[in-house]
Amino acid sequence: MDPGLRREDEGIFDERNSSTSSEEGMASGSTVTRFAPSPTGYLHLGHVRSALEGWRAARCAGGHFLLRLEDIDRSRCRDEYAAAIIEDLAWLGLLWDGVVRKQSEHFDDYRGALDRLEALGVLYPCFCTRREIQDEIARAGSAPHVQSGRSYPGTCRGLSPGQWAERQHSGLDYALRLNLAGALALTGPLDWFEDGADGPRRQAADPAPLGDVVLARKDVPASYHLAVTVDDALQGVTLVTRGADLVEATHVHRVLQALLGLPTPRYRHHVLLTDTTGRRLSKRDRALTIRSMRQSGMSPGEILARAMEAAG
Ligand SMILES: [Zn+2]
Repeated sequence: MDPGLRREDEGIFDERNSSTSSEEGMASGSTVTRFAPSPTGYLHLGHVRSALEGWRAARCAGGHFLLRLEDIDRSRCRDEYAAAIIEDLAWLGLLWDGVVRKQSEHFDDYRGALDRLEALGVLYPCFCTRREIQDEIARAGSAPHVQSGRSYPGTCRGLSPGQWAERQHSGLDYALRLNLAGALALTGPLDWFEDGADGPRRQAADPAPLGDVVLARKDVPASYHLAVTVDDALQGVTLVTRGADLVEATHVHRVLQALLGLPTPRYRHHVLLTDTTGRRLSKRDRALTIRSMRQSGMSPGEILARAMEAAG
């Protein structure tokens, strides 16, 4: 563990009701999972599937299930959605252990990680136009799995350090991107354990498709990729359960773990829910928010069953 990164799991677990079992659990390396939605809308049936995966894995193993709100984008996140997520999860009975971690309260942690990456020489400033950056933020913010890096041509990576400094000092806004080639030269080949139907298997990391991801946005001193990687380590997460749409991000997160000296959890990427026509569920399907399902009279059990059923 990087001494520069503050471990918070002790603080979190101190506040848990069953403190004795939690300490034993941590000591024996028990399963710690998390559900990490962004409060940009109401909880959706697809979210419930993700939450259930983490909750069940933790409960079956006698471990801990954590809740984290990924709310670094203050322009899109709303407190009312955060409150609704918490309320809906509790209503569903998907209770979490310890305090809820809100990423917006932990920018110091992400700054510490950026400093370390900077010291390794694997960051560079990106001054690309507002329009280009906004497009990237929209893609990365609304759907982090979208391959924004693939479309970034690496323009600013090719600038000289003198040009970087000149532009930074001129007051131009800039994002910080990962120099992936430089990073991989430091880390060498990487892999992780993916929990599949047949048990864990070794998965080689191939971060090339996402390319030079943004690690500090122009408007936010962090990014999805950075915050997730740092938080999973700080919270002691041992098993990350999330949708298959995020598997490409995992390849990048593995690289960040290696650079930052953070432990690598196991991963379980679950199938995404689809509607009756096979189309992936999305936030646009308002009828599938937990709010509307509750209002239609469905019970928690019925909604949980539907979340697993729809997964096939
Ligand atoms: Zn650029």
